[in-house]
Amino acid sequence: MLKHKLIIDGNQIPATSGQEATIFNPANGKPLASVQEGGTEDIDRAAQAAHRAFREGPWRRITTRERGRLLIHLSNLIRDHAEELSRLESQNVGKPIRESRDEVNLAADCFQFYAGAVDKVGGQNAPIAAPGVGITFREPIGVCGLIVPWNFPIAISCWKIAPALAMGNTVVVKPASQTPLTALRIAELALEAGIPSGVLNVVTGPGSRLGEALVRNPLVRKISFTGSTEVGRSVMKLAADDIKRVTLELGGKSANVVFADADLDKAVPSAVWSVLANAGQDCCARSRLLLEQSIAEEFLSRLIEQFKKVRLGDPLDEKTELGPLISHAHRTRVMSYVEAGSSEGAKLLCGGDIPNDQALSQGSYVRPALFSDVKPNMRIAQEEIFGPVLAVMSFTSEQEAIEFANASMYGLSGSVWTCDIGRALRVAKAIETGVISVNSGHSVHLEMPFGGVKLSGVGRELGLAVLDHYSEWKSVFINTQA
Ligand code: NAD
Repeated sequence: MLKHKLIIDGNQIPATSGQEATIFNPANGKPLASVQEGGTEDIDRAAQAAHRAFREGPWRRITTRERGRLLIHLSNLIRDHAEELSRLESQNVGKPIRESRDEVNLAADCFQFYAGAVDKVGGQNAPIAAPGVGITFREPIGVCGLIVPWNFPIAISCWKIAPALAMGNTVVVKPASQTPLTALRIAELALEAGIPSGVLNVVTGPGSRLGEALVRNPLVRKISFTGSTEVGRSVMKLAADDIKRVTLELGGKSANVVFADADLDKAVPSAVWSVLANAGQDCCARSRLLLEQSIAEEFLSRLIEQFKKVRLGDPLDEKTELGPLISHAHRTRVMSYVEAGSSEGAKLLCGGDIPNDQALSQGSYVRPALFSDVKPNMRIAQEEIFGPVLAVMSFTSEQEAIEFANASMYGLSGSVWTCDIGRALRVAKAIETGVISVNSGHSVHLEMPFGGVKLSGVGRELGLAVLDHYSEWKSVFINTQA
């Protein structure tokens, strides 16, 4: 079993407490690795190291081209270790290996993209109404605290680290307590790439204690948090004490709206995998499917067929399509929603049970659940389940589809399926969400801003837009009056 240390100031060190925690494989319940049980003192040590690296180290002083070169080097190292990282992610999170490979690829792409951006984003020469010259600079913020959830550990770590470092900041990463392994490996690879000590620190340990310590630490000037709306709310309140910059990427309950003129051969598999990928543990999961009444019956019968064919199995098996949930505790929560759906009057068409297959018995597996006859106010239509549960509703007009889609406190992602380009654009604009796809189930394109409205968060990640969230504008006026 691999034993990991904290990574602070370029060194692998034990936690101050001397305690370790075991990380388990959710597919079989077996111990996978041991990590340090970091505490508040370790967060403080990491923040001090990051602060020193920011104030005294070379990171923000080296040329942008050199900074970009180091980030490209890290991107290449991630690609060189892609299979190792993918297997580690699958074993730690339980996600099918093919999905882990996509995630690792995105992690490498993030460093490549922001390495390329480093020397292309800068300040401006402002045409001011005064005798003189107005110049704006984009300066790094300082130490950024990056808090990462357990569902896409490597992708989300890297889509925070890469733009933060690109703008010259230094970071302390706090991975989710269950899934810290790939973030630790990325920090090792960063050192190998030549990124200076103290620029990228990783502290593992109990989530709420470390997360709060990071948000409270006065040396940390910005928090980028991805996780639940509930915790995001408390992060925002705590961060207000010393006016930290905050980005929050929170929960979702995204709608997948399918009109009768859609290409059903594409819309049906997309409806399946845009809720079942990563076993539904996806903030962008299209967990509400809104079908135009006239196609609802046909669509549902095709969905049932596909749901029943989904292959559950060992995440490392190339043929596996659906892995286990992150833990037995999380499965219990997901099962409580299956019960709530039935008791509130929705119709369970298939799945929603625990497989009794011997090979899966030690893992936290659940068969994908498909509910029809769902009403917009039911819990399974309102609350984020974060599991393989699809709630299907039907609508009779474009207006009703928009109303149902917007009947949610969340606004993260979504899809609209139609061959009518005018309708596609009308509906995409009318749905209250940060991201929406037309005739596609994809949410994340690294070149575009990603994030939510309403209770799904504040601020944006990815695209060039995120660079605004990792920098401050400074305005300099030079008086040229004689
Ligand atoms: P979570 O809110 O429980 O934890 C998220 C992170 O915060 C973890 O690292 C955790 O250890 C840490 N944390 C826990 N308590 C904290 C506290 N009091 N202060 C500071 N940090 C604390 O979420 P989770 O269960 O890890 O992830 C699932 C949630 O994340 C879902 O709601 C999902 O929708 C959301 N999510 C959102 C996005 C997005 O981009 N919008 C992406 C992935 C996941």
